[in-house]
Amino acid sequence: MTVTLLGATEIRRLAAELDVTPTKKLGQNFVVDANTVRKIVQAAEVRPGEHVVEIGPGLGSLTLAILEAGASVTAVEIDHRLAERLLQTAAERGAAEGALTVVDADAMRITELPGEPAVLVANLPYNVSVPVLLHFLETFPHLQRGVVMVQAEVAERLAAAPGSKIYGAPSVKAAWYGPWRLCGTVSRRVFWPVPNVDSLLVGFHRDTEPRGDETERRRTFEIVDAAFNQRRKMLRQALSGQFGGSAAASAALESAGVAPTARGEDLTVDDYHRIARVALG
Ligand code: SAM
Repeated sequence: MTVTLLGATEIRRLAAELDVTPTKKLGQNFVVDANTVRKIVQAAEVRPGEHVVEIGPGLGSLTLAILEAGASVTAVEIDHRLAERLLQTAAERGAAEGALTVVDADAMRITELPGEPAVLVANLPYNVSVPVLLHFLETFPHLQRGVVMVQAEVAERLAAAPGSKIYGAPSVKAAWYGPWRLCGTVSRRVFWPVPNVDSLLVGFHRDTEPRGDETERRRTFEIVDAAFNQRRKMLRQALSGQFGGSAAASAALESAGVAPTARGEDLTVDDYHRIARVALG
């Protein structure tokens, strides 16, 4: 069965039919270019028979490209008008019956996904891209890999290595789950409406073994937040509140094999994890 993708005219027509004017609040910048959605699906190496979860399918441009690749899709959309129309769009464009499941919900709040998809593919709403990614990685351990389109700065931050200016709390938290890589550029001209930021594709592969349990993860993330809240300070000062003073923080850092004079941006996720383990005792 052949799936036909949506073109720019069809996307605008569909939006008019649904009386949808894209809103900034929901990060509604729809991709109106078939080559771009195919490029995202190729970057994610979606294979026939795989089960993909898509956050924010909108009018369905990327959804159809995933279906075209022979995968099944669970799509989570917060805007009821868009969620309600998606199954009909998929059927009209030739998708196999049962290949698409629509979840009409806020992706930030869901705790269950039907069928435990292994792959995440999305053009994420800009305003919630990092929290929604972290929520999905934490809540759905069955997600093995993914490629998402996000604002260029966010993508660079997610894939940043220690020591770089853009390395921050999101970089360490994302790395908790596995390695990230930049995997493509996207022109702002392929969106409707055209956003005032550039976008990049960024992908991840989850580590085969979880790095630590939930208690260790939470403590690690608290320490990461404290370190980057005062990123110019040395860690013995930035983490003094976490350990009840800078002398205790220095001792903890030394036990974890980290120089108390280092700054938050110098540390890897493994360093933060060791500090958290010392903090937990
Ligand atoms: N995938 C479509 C595309 O590429 O054309 C739309 C992408 S648009 C950047 C983001 C989509 O996410 C919109 O359809 C928006 O309604 C939806 N969205 C925004 N916040 C959401 C949330 N918290 N949960 C689920 N969907 C959300």
